[in-house]
Amino acid sequence: MPGFSELNLRPELLKAILEQGYTDPTPIQVQAIPQVLAGQDVLGGAQTGTGKTAGFGLPLLQRLLPHANTSASPARHPVRALVLTPTRELAAQVEESLRGYAKYTGLRTTVIFGGMNMDPQTEALRRGVEVLVATPGRLLDHVQQKTLNLSQVEVLVLDEADRMLDMGFIPDVTRIIKLLPSKRQTLLFSATLTDDIRKLSDSFLNNPVMVQVARSNATADSIKHVAIPVAREKKRELLSYLVQTRDLKQVLVFTATRLGANRLAYQLNRDGVHATAIHGDKSQPERLIALNDFKEGKVRVLVATDVAARGLDIEDLPHVINFDLPNSPEDYVHRIGRTGRAGATGEAISLVSPEEHERLEAIEKTIRVTIPRELISGFGMDSRSVSSLVPQKPHGEVRRERSGDALSGARRERPRDRERPAGAPAQGARRSGVPADPIFLEPYRPTVSQPSAAAPARGEITSARTSGKPAVQIAALLGGFRLKTK
Ligand code: AMP
Repeated sequence: MPGFSELNLRPELLKAILEQGYTDPTPIQVQAIPQVLAGQDVLGGAQTGTGKTAGFGLPLLQRLLPHANTSASPARHPVRALVLTPTRELAAQVEESLRGYAKYTGLRTTVIFGGMNMDPQTEALRRGVEVLVATPGRLLDHVQQKTLNLSQVEVLVLDEADRMLDMGFIPDVTRIIKLLPSKRQTLLFSATLTDDIRKLSDSFLNNPVMVQVARSNATADSIKHVAIPVAREKKRELLSYLVQTRDLKQVLVFTATRLGANRLAYQLNRDGVHATAIHGDKSQPERLIALNDFKEGKVRVLVATDVAARGLDIEDLPHVINFDLPNSPEDYVHRIGRTGRAGATGEAISLVSPEEHERLEAIEKTIRVTIPRELISGFGMDSRSVSSLVPQKPHGEVRRERSGDALSGARRERPRDRERPAGAPAQGARRSGVPADPIFLEPYRPTVSQPSAAAPARGEITSARTSGKPAVQIAALLGGFRLKTK
């Protein structure tokens, strides 16, 4: 495999990546960098964690290098590259990476997303910036407010396009693309290259080159999968038990709903396990603080929903625990993609209640692995439920622990106990079944009427935070949020 020095990257960029500690390019970088440097449109099949940001970021910066200048005049620093991402966290992380790569180029980068005061963003845009990373809604807010001009964009990157599609962002993206020069380079990255993604590529890209790494549903071989049968009402207790008895230090836990995430974090803290939740109800600064505390080891357990965790760059995470199994097997792949990266070993533990059995089977089919079941003493299941969860002929490791206790006791849970995600449409309404953050479900609506206030992200539960009325807060907590008015 060629090294970075063989990829024709300029010394300014090589110096920056050396500083980042990168010694060799990743497979997606080897494939994408020459194509992007050559000015080709690229359709990239790669998920977060593969190094795709440098894959498009380094050649993109190199192409913009001739425009680098030290002039203080904003007119000399128009937006020349636009990177659109589905979530605020991903936007922040991509911009942080690009800023690092651009360190010695003289090119400016900035990020804009909802949930933050618009004023500092407006100020950064006013000063001039060559590389802009944004979520679609907030970008349109700035366009509406005339604080952003996109007429000189030369390169457009659509990052995690599959997620943008799932989250209903494509109308906003289409609107944004209409504001860009038609002569431009477009790069589209997606974890999966489905028919829908190819259709998007057909409409937005011009004769693209396809680059792809790893099968979309592949999971790292270094990950150990385990499913622990447990009655639903005992899951929280089991989680505390596992974290404490196995001395797990840095655990990312997934729940189906934001309400569930909050409640679980609260209960874990009560159990003496330091935990925090990260989800769409939290303000952006709150989310970033939670993420940093977790990365620095100040918080032992980070409880997240799929949407909130999307694109989180947490390296070498040893443990992912599915408190609730995801609705779609692809989300299982995404969830555990955070562990076992770059050859590190990781463990993905799923707490599986009887009514989640079908989901577990769908996951096993997708990842083509029979996940070994592990019975833990004291966390009761009735024998029928257990036998339905324990495969007759597991391919992999077999049960490691068995106990009479585990086969007795717990009552079967009624399916209606399962929560529907706050604000999410009824089951089956969405293609991927990802618990939806309402922020992603609404069409674009400007939020710029009061530019000096901290403008909320679209669909965000502003009333819960700004109103002192308990009735509103309770409604928000139970999933109520701004009603659409027609
Ligand atoms: P990404 O898929 O772009 O989100 O990158 C995932 C992680 O891999 C980030 O923490 C990057 O800093 C890191 N990374 C990207 N390229 C390389 C490389 N060539 N060598 C080592 N780490 C890398």
